[in-house]
Amino acid sequence: MVSIISKLLGIFSKKFNATDSPEVDCKQDKNNVPPTRIGDLGEYKINIQLDQLPKKYRYLSDIMIPNPISITGFSQIDHIIISPYAIFVIETKNYTGTIYGSRDKDKWLINGKFPMVNPFNQNFGHIKAVQSLLSNANVSNIVSMVSFSRRCIFKVDLNLRKIQSNELIVYDTELSDFITRKQNVLRLLFNAPIYTEEKIQQMYDILSRNNITDKEIREQHIKNIKMNRKESESKSNFPASCENCGKMVSDKVRRYCLANKERFKGSIYCFEHQREI
Ligand SMILES: [Zn+2]
Repeated sequence: MVSIISKLLGIFSKKFNATDSPEVDCKQDKNNVPPTRIGDLGEYKINIQLDQLPKKYRYLSDIMIPNPISITGFSQIDHIIISPYAIFVIETKNYTGTIYGSRDKDKWLINGKFPMVNPFNQNFGHIKAVQSLLSNANVSNIVSMVSFSRRCIFKVDLNLRKIQSNELIVYDTELSDFITRKQNVLRLLFNAPIYTEEKIQQMYDILSRNNITDKEIREQHIKNIKMNRKESESKSNFPASCENCGKMVSDKVRRYCLANKERFKGSIYCFEHQREI
C-alpha cells in the first residue's frame, strides 16, 4: 500500500510532457484532472498490472528501438515482458467504443464505422524489430498482446481471446492475469523453462541498451508519425480519436484540429479536451 501511495505521489510530481503516454481514463475527467495527469494514471494502471508479475520476469515500458522496415526507422513499443516461457510484446490502445475485428482483416472498425489498422499487424512489426535485436539470443515463443481500456467492448475473433493463441486481445485490467495464464499453459507444454534467469537478463540488457532515450530523436519520431498520419488521414476517413480520452471524433473535428497546427501540434482532441489545450 505504501509503495502504491508513493508511486502515485511520484506520478503527480512528474513533470508534464506533451508527448507522454496518450492513455487516459475518461472517468477521471469529471474531477477536471488535466489531460496528461489522466494519461499518467492510465499508464500507471498498466504498470500496477506489470508490478504484480513475479520478480524473475523483466519488463521494459515505452521503449523505442531501430526498425529499418518502419517508415520512421523506429518502432515504439509500449511494453515488453520477458518471462521464463515467452516474451510478451504489448501494444496498448486508447480508443473508446466497440471494437470490431478479426485476425485476417487488415482494417478493424471502431463503433462499426471508424477504421483502424489491425493492431496485430502493427504489433507484428514491433515483434520483428524485437526479434532482429535478439537474433543472437535464439528467441522463440513471442506472444503478441493488444490491450484496450474498459471503455471498449470487444466484438472480435474469439480465437484472439483464447489462451492457447499467441495473439491475444485483452483489457488493461486483465493484463497480468492473461500473462500468468499463458505462462501456465506454456509450462505444461514445455515442462522446463525456455529461458534461464541469465538469458532473461541478457535479453533485457540488449533491449535496454538499444532503447533510444535521446529526447530529440523521440520527438522527431512522434512528429514523423503525426505527419504521416496527417497525410494518410487527409486521404481517407482514418480513425480519428481524441488524444486524451480516446473518444472518436467526427471528420469535421479532425480537420479542425489538424488545421490548427499551432494550437494542437498535429494532435486531435474531442470538444471537451480542446478547451484544455
Ligand atoms: Zn477527449
